[in-house]
Amino acid sequence: MIKVGISSCLIGHKVRYDGGHKASDFCQNDLNEFVEYLPLCPEIGIGLPIPRPSIRLEGLENGTTRALITKTGEDITTKLRDFADVRKHQLNELSGYVLCAKSPSCGLERVRLYTPGEKDNRKAGVGIFAQRLKELEPALPMEEDGRLNDPHLRENFVLRLFVYSEWKALPRPLNKKDVLAFHTRHKLLLLAHNQPAYRALGKRLGELEQLNESFAQDYIVQVMNALAKPASKANHTNVLQHVQGYFKTNLSTVEREALAQLILEYRAGLEPLSAPLALFKHYLNLYPKDYLAGQSYFQPYPQSLRLRYGL
Ligand code: SF4
Repeated sequence: MIKVGISSCLIGHKVRYDGGHKASDFCQNDLNEFVEYLPLCPEIGIGLPIPRPSIRLEGLENGTTRALITKTGEDITTKLRDFADVRKHQLNELSGYVLCAKSPSCGLERVRLYTPGEKDNRKAGVGIFAQRLKELEPALPMEEDGRLNDPHLRENFVLRLFVYSEWKALPRPLNKKDVLAFHTRHKLLLLAHNQPAYRALGKRLGELEQLNESFAQDYIVQVMNALAKPASKANHTNVLQHVQGYFKTNLSTVEREALAQLILEYRAGLEPLSAPLALFKHYLNLYPKDYLAGQSYFQPYPQSLRLRYGL
């Protein structure tokens, strides 16, 4: 089972400052079928009570951020960072993390960041726990609950989650053969998300003589960063047209034209991505091709999550 970290309040634990939760429908009723959650509440973990006083994130002149209990001024930054550090091994087993938005501990972006001693703030902070998590696990796919309501961002997070879980499942210590096979399997996905990264990573792997841990770590961070941007219609169209080339000797002129037309209709927003993909799967059954059959692009996550219908 794929292990996913999650802010406890998002799966209904009543751990928020006001004694409530912030249950995420998608996490509780859809994604839960495919993952095993590791629920963590950093604020409870460092010993704060329920209910508890508010916490304020402050941006300091040296560019760092601190978290204070607003009422007492107690600085809890180190405790929140340490909460992540002592769980380093558990966090390293995860393939993704869903964080609660806006929280001074868990928020991934746009958390209210105050100027010390003042009331003015801007939405520019990252929660202390989330920041430490990013430092410890730079390749780990992370997303906030609210952003998962957007079909493109939801699809993108789940896609990264499943790709990263495949990486985590590779036998350790990593060997060059497995890394090359991983890269080959995700080539079209990379092409759809980030063409420059697709080319650069292919070149680096092509020139690789011996695999070492630092190369592997750098490689997977680059792959996950490349996939973090949802694929555009133009890039999907490029991939679909590329795939079409594999069938040129199998299809009749009429079939080729119908396929080309369907791809253009997808590009124009008249058909969902799932339409040309379904036709390609059909042709793959009729005319098997090992390279394409192994591509995660056609089915990067379980179909029952219905993530591509809105794309
Ligand atoms: S946002 Fe994070 S710290 Fe706040 S209640 Fe949820 S899990 Fe706990």
